[in-house]
Amino acid sequence: MFRPIEITSHRLPPAKHHKFVMSGLFLCLILAFNVVLGSGLSQATETAAPSDTTPRIPEAPSIDLQEPVIDLIPTEADQATVPPAPETAPKTSSEAAAKALLLLGKQVLPGTSTRLAWSPSQSFEGIAAPTPVLVVNGAKPGPVLCLTAAVHGDELNGIETVRRVMYALEAESLAGTVIGVPIVNLQGFHRGSRYLPDRRDLNRFFPGNPQGSSAARIAHSFFREIISHCDALVDLHTGSFHRINLPQLRADLTQPEVVKLTQGFGATAVLHSIGAPGTLRRAATDNGIPAVTLEAGGSMHLEEKAVSHGVKGIQTLINTLEMHQKMRLWGAPEPVYYHSVWVRADHGGILFSKVKLGSRIDKGDILGTVTDPITNVREEIVAPFKGRILGMAVNQVVQPGFAAYRIGIQKSGDEATHPPQPLPDTPELDSPDLATSKHSEPRLIVPDRTRSE
Ligand SMILES: [Zn+2]
Repeated sequence: MFRPIEITSHRLPPAKHHKFVMSGLFLCLILAFNVVLGSGLSQATETAAPSDTTPRIPEAPSIDLQEPVIDLIPTEADQATVPPAPETAPKTSSEAAAKALLLLGKQVLPGTSTRLAWSPSQSFEGIAAPTPVLVVNGAKPGPVLCLTAAVHGDELNGIETVRRVMYALEAESLAGTVIGVPIVNLQGFHRGSRYLPDRRDLNRFFPGNPQGSSAARIAHSFFREIISHCDALVDLHTGSFHRINLPQLRADLTQPEVVKLTQGFGATAVLHSIGAPGTLRRAATDNGIPAVTLEAGGSMHLEEKAVSHGVKGIQTLINTLEMHQKMRLWGAPEPVYYHSVWVRADHGGILFSKVKLGSRIDKGDILGTVTDPITNVREEIVAPFKGRILGMAVNQVVQPGFAAYRIGIQKSGDEATHPPQPLPDTPELDSPDLATSKHSEPRLIVPDRTRSE
């Protein structure tokens, strides 16, 4: 027997501070979903607005997202405390103006929070694991902001960032809707892998294709069922393959709506990039949904600094979008636009860095050393430009050609205060796979799967 799901709308208790640990979170999210909701939810279908002639779309249960789902077996005491189904709650005038959100075959009423499930149905029906989708639909009208994390299943910081943001929201005082998908690539997450089970990178298949490969179908389902409902999107990522990123936004600064979005995050570095074809960010922007990628930290780790920067940035955005007045505001927006280049090690050996993530460096500064453990020959990696360390490798054994430091080159104050001009589209500089050596003109190097976004 499972705890009965409340299917009525009741007022949410005020938000409390979360106390349980991160590992508990993952367990809760998955357990709550697979057990409490998993069996009952069907694949969503596009549904028309309810009217007298159409069947009523079931209302999503209104729940307190902060309440951990731990006791799945109800006790007598639980049953006694289940509140009786309330009559229709009296609506305030502002509530009347906000709309129910139709998502994944459910109606999420204004002023309520809920968990829904998205199932890409790319598996055997019986073992399909639905992916949790958290929704806070504000009592007041406003935009739909979407937060997605772990499109790469080994990028953990975004999962915790989305959790903290979602569980701090209060539906009663929110204007608009926030949809949070903490773990988009649940199969990768379970295996501690960046990829889908077929080794494809989901973030190269958006907006997807219902007749395509498994990855293309999953991407299509996610894009259609969730992303198409968004007015703005923040996709959370981290560095990959033993590299870490300073918290930063990747955004196509040729799009005015995207520029506006980047300006909402407060003091967060912004790196211009159109985005590789197939990324969720690029597909959303191409479909008229302004989108940014928020990169913070590295994969396979949970980093408090990266998470708290992400939470603060998104909460500042929610404030800037006038969705929530009580969210903290992170000073005046100070967008900083960067070009960037990767600096590579030209010799193999043991890499030790002299600089830290976020360090401001001058041309000629020593960034790190690579020492051959057998010959004791040491190479110094020298900064070819003045700039800032936006991304870097952790200390490790590297092969010749390894992309070790990503240097952001700030645009002039004049450029930064005026609407940004389109920068040359240089995808080869957006990925460590295709970065240049410090000794040569830009050249293409065979990809070695070291992308981040
Ligand atoms: Zn990623």
